[in-house]
Amino acid sequence: MKQSKVDFNNLFLMNEDITTCPNCGSRTDIILDLSHTKDSTQVHKCLALDCLMEFVFVSDSDEN
Ligand SMILES: [Zn+2]
Repeated sequence: MKQSKVDFNNLFLMNEDITTCPNCGSRTDIILDLSHTKDSTQVHKCLALDCLMEFVFVSDSDEN
């Protein structure tokens, strides 16, 4: 059984299109949506059964 651990020190940038796993490129599922908070982050989990890594995505919607 693989350990599942979210690495909050390793952030990925959300883009407007489909979010894909930075590790294997498969589709991801949002398991924690904090995009409405000040942190604007989402935790995604890879849907590939041989990957299942979790990633923290940050929104790039800062408008100056
Ligand atoms: Zn993956």
